[in-house]
Amino acid sequence: MRVFNFSAGPAALPLEVLEQAAAELTDWDGCGMSVMEVSHRGKAFTALAEQMEARLRALLAIPNSYRVLFLQGGATGQFAAVPLNLAARGARVDYLNTGVWSAKAIEEAERLGLQVNLAADEAGSSYTSVPAPQALRLDPHSVYVHYTPNETIGGVEFPYVPETGAVPLVADMSSTILSRPIEVSRFGLIYAGAQKNIGPSGLCVVIVHESLLASARTDVPTVLDYARMAAHGSMLNTPPTFSWYIANLVFGWIEAQGGLAAMAARNRAKAELLYGAIDASGMYRSPVERTCRSWMNVPFTLARAELVPEFLREAAGEGLTHLEGHRSVGGLRASLYNAVPLEAVGALVAFMREFERRHG
Ligand SMILES: *Cc1c(COP(=O)(O)O)cnc(C)c1O
Repeated sequence: MRVFNFSAGPAALPLEVLEQAAAELTDWDGCGMSVMEVSHRGKAFTALAEQMEARLRALLAIPNSYRVLFLQGGATGQFAAVPLNLAARGARVDYLNTGVWSAKAIEEAERLGLQVNLAADEAGSSYTSVPAPQALRLDPHSVYVHYTPNETIGGVEFPYVPETGAVPLVADMSSTILSRPIEVSRFGLIYAGAQKNIGPSGLCVVIVHESLLASARTDVPTVLDYARMAAHGSMLNTPPTFSWYIANLVFGWIEAQGGLAAMAARNRAKAELLYGAIDASGMYRSPVERTCRSWMNVPFTLARAELVPEFLREAAGEGLTHLEGHRSVGGLRASLYNAVPLEAVGALVAFMREFERRHG
């Protein structure tokens, strides 16, 4: 029996994708073996890699002036790769601190010897809000501006793309990529760990403008070096082939759903349903300011916090899983990535009403 999985990551995958992968697991593409057992340099896998990049480019309408890289090390690897590739030691960079993930990115940039200017810091709001556009204290001499459009743990999302003039904008889109159309040309670099909205863990997508490819340091480790990886089709070394294979199927699935405009409509409907239920209740509360509530990650609390374990126990009994908040913040959280159907949110909302009726 499949449950409704609200995990923040690794997260739900489309059932159709899993079924296709299961059907061709032992004999992929007529090879007589699984996709995990073929050479990444062979014809079949090379074709897969080309299709995967072409599909992602089409979905996001990525301009030709951008390179698409498929790297390892997760989004956390990019916390290091971005400073190493884009900034010389001691360079000035801007970071917007809006939650746990931006804070980790900042820590890594500082560890690598950059001078980090906090152009915004929402720690004071306990990460329940984002800064207003006019409140950003951007340094015009910084090498890049880094921010996290959607904070997976706090559930806050920027309702706008920061305007950074000539300074390249770098975005950690791990938990929001492919949830709706974006204008890639607003960004110098976008990165996203796969295990939220793309596929299995082990893969990190990087979309980088070609002007940022020449690395600022000569000692960037090869597997993190954008220029070298771009020159070798992200295959300087063995890629996580199964993750690539599933990501390619997920991109095909999104295409078949009608692309990102269709995903956006579905995701908006899911988020409105859940926030509507939270706001209408006397028992549940969203800690996040209304203007920056995430479509993808919805944290909420119970009026009586001691009921959280009972909520989780009863929800699991109804096949609604992974609703616990992140261990650093507690409470509850429902992640509503692309592969979570509207039906799952409907079931969650029905359960929440019933739970409130009995325990409210
Ligand atoms: C999950 C997540 C990360 C960390 O991803 P890893 O692949 O585990 O390194 C970083 N940033 C954001 C916004 C995330 O949601």
